[in-house]
Amino acid sequence: MDLFEYQARDLFAEYGVPVLPGAVASTPEQARAAAEEIGCPVVIKAQVKTGGRGKAGGVQLADDPADAEAKARAILGMDIKGHTVHRVLVAKASDIAEEYYFSYLLDRSNRTFLAMASVQGGVEIEQVAVESPDALARIPIDARTGVDEAKAREIVAAARFPAAVAEQVVDVAQKLWTAFTGADATLVEVNPLVQDPAGTIIALDGKVTLDGNADFRHPEHAELDDTDAVDPLEREAVAKGLNYVKLDGEVGIIGNGAGLVMSTLDVVAYAGEEYAGVKPANFLDIGGGASAQVMADGLGIILGDPAVKSVFVNVFGGITACDEVANGIVQALHILGDKAVKPLVVRLDGNNVEEGRRILNESAHDLVEQLDTMDGAARRAAELASQA
Ligand code: GDP
Ligand code: MN
Repeated sequence: MDLFEYQARDLFAEYGVPVLPGAVASTPEQARAAAEEIGCPVVIKAQVKTGGRGKAGGVQLADDPADAEAKARAILGMDIKGHTVHRVLVAKASDIAEEYYFSYLLDRSNRTFLAMASVQGGVEIEQVAVESPDALARIPIDARTGVDEAKAREIVAAARFPAAVAEQVVDVAQKLWTAFTGADATLVEVNPLVQDPAGTIIALDGKVTLDGNADFRHPEHAELDDTDAVDPLEREAVAKGLNYVKLDGEVGIIGNGAGLVMSTLDVVAYAGEEYAGVKPANFLDIGGGASAQVMADGLGIILGDPAVKSVFVNVFGGITACDEVANGIVQALHILGDKAVKPLVVRLDGNNVEEGRRILNESAHDLVEQLDTMDGAARRAAELASQA
């Protein structure tokens, strides 16, 4: 999960990383009140989970509370790279002498953690990495030893931070590492890490990605989730432990195994070209053990999507054989009762396929139609969707 800047700022503050006073606001009036409280000048910053806000006009200085209100009014509702601004961070403005860059991340390709630091911060670091790679220090971090004072000094020396700020950056580097490991992050990035005219180091912008695999030991992370941005069907699917992604077509898709479901999306999109351009409405992988309840949960979510006109259930029986899946479908339709109103095209293959097909034929549910091949079933599902 990526955090908003204001959440990253809170995390930094909790670990003693120097940040400026700030408050989050979702209306211009709240921004004005925050500016009065903090003391002007302030900077008004769009809270969207994308970079380049500065260039897009989403970071603006305000001289007094009325100006803060006006700037917040201009920024709230702005669209930045497809993200609508619902909140702004109102932070004490800082004068900037120098802009640096500092980050820790999980370096998957080298199976290690990595520190990256540069005295050429502020701008997009990807650009620095390409145009002057020597200006971006990259220091691997051993997970067993982490960033102690010696390691912090190594990073600071490699990035050639000026002597006047070196001690402060050594301290910030260790605190950021504690934040990185303490929150189970896969990324903490500070850009810019600034030196103000008095020579003080401050983290002015923060980006943090938390590792969802560690959620079990961070119940407090649940409230950082941006529920506004999540599709309600996706939220329901997550709550039921399903692997579901909402798409914008009309043919609901259920399959077992990510690879099979992805190829099902392709086949349906291709078939849909012949039938009024209908497309897959979702990705849903019910995984290996497709019990009746999992099938009912999956079907329930897909049938709850008003955009869905037909459903394609594409299952390849493996450890969970086709007869179990077929029983799952029959029981799921029983569980759903009147809620199941859209046609279902089912293609079963693999382990125990004859028995699976027999069970479905015997149940003779009037919404269910069986086809033997994936292509044929995809075409039929697309046709049914185009007729609805
Ligand atoms: P980003 O563009 O999304 O990365 O947003 P940043 O928070 O990094 O802001 C972009 C730029 O705005 C920074 O590199 C600074 O140059 C400038 N900026 C941000 N906060 C302040 C501030 O408090 N004072 C001043 N003078 N400039 C700021
Ligand atoms: Mn930035």
